[in-house]
Amino acid sequence: IIRIQKLDKSFGTLQVLDGLSFEVKPGEKLALIGPSGSGKTTILRMLMTLETISGGRIEVCGEPLYHMTKGGREVPADEAHLHHMRRHIGMVFQHFNLFPHKSVLDNITLAPILTKGEPKAKAEAHAMELLDMVGLAEKAKAMPSQLSGGQKQRVAIARALALKPRIMLFDEVTSALDPELVEEVLLVMKRLAAETDMTMLLVTHEMGFAHEFADRVLFFDKGRIVEEGPPDRIFTNPTHERTQTFLRKII
Ligand code: ATP
Repeated sequence: IIRIQKLDKSFGTLQVLDGLSFEVKPGEKLALIGPSGSGKTTILRMLMTLETISGGRIEVCGEPLYHMTKGGREVPADEAHLHHMRRHIGMVFQHFNLFPHKSVLDNITLAPILTKGEPKAKAEAHAMELLDMVGLAEKAKAMPSQLSGGQKQRVAIARALALKPRIMLFDEVTSALDPELVEEVLLVMKRLAAETDMTMLLVTHEMGFAHEFADRVLFFDKGRIVEEGPPDRIFTNPTHERTQTFLRKII
């Protein structure tokens, strides 16, 4: 469902991704782990077309995110194509990014109404189902400022789901939360992983959660994949010295 080939990304002189290639199968739950600055968040942002690429190719659902020119170089796609591609992917960020002046319900229904032209009643009925799923049906009329961090993040998850994406990206969704609020967000994500066939990519520093959640783990260092495999093997028996050092430090 995602194919990344020889992807390069530089910010000025800083090379963040270096000829990166990997594929994600439909329904796969993938965890991206590795030291800070290794390029994990940048990959998710490129999939969301929030960053341009410096070289290489990204395909989502069989279509390139970027258009090929005659010279074989990829250039940013036009807005219409990006709009078309973005509906496949939902993203939840570290800092919830809820609209502060809109109610919880409006936060969730805004995009389906504006971008998909869904009738308000239908969007609201779907939003209520999603709020129920994340355990916040009683907060539909609340404003974001009245919610705890964990509740805000659960609303952000419901909001991303409202567009019915085939792929969900989670970028360190618990790292801005107080420790006692982490669990409620992880529980929602675990339920989502178990109950849907959505493809999920997770960037996280929560190794225990990555272990439970993922079918496959990619360990990144300096913009490359150093090691990949099923979580049982990566976490209990990593073969690469970089992975061993990283896991020793973090667990
Ligand atoms: P972390 O776990 O800390 O989030 P990461 O592996 O997700 O790290 P990225 O956020 O992808 O790493 O960042 C990779 C590198 O790119 C970092 O050195 C970062 O400072 C740099 N970087 C990211 N975005 C930009 C930007 N817009 N402009 C310049 N440099 C950037």
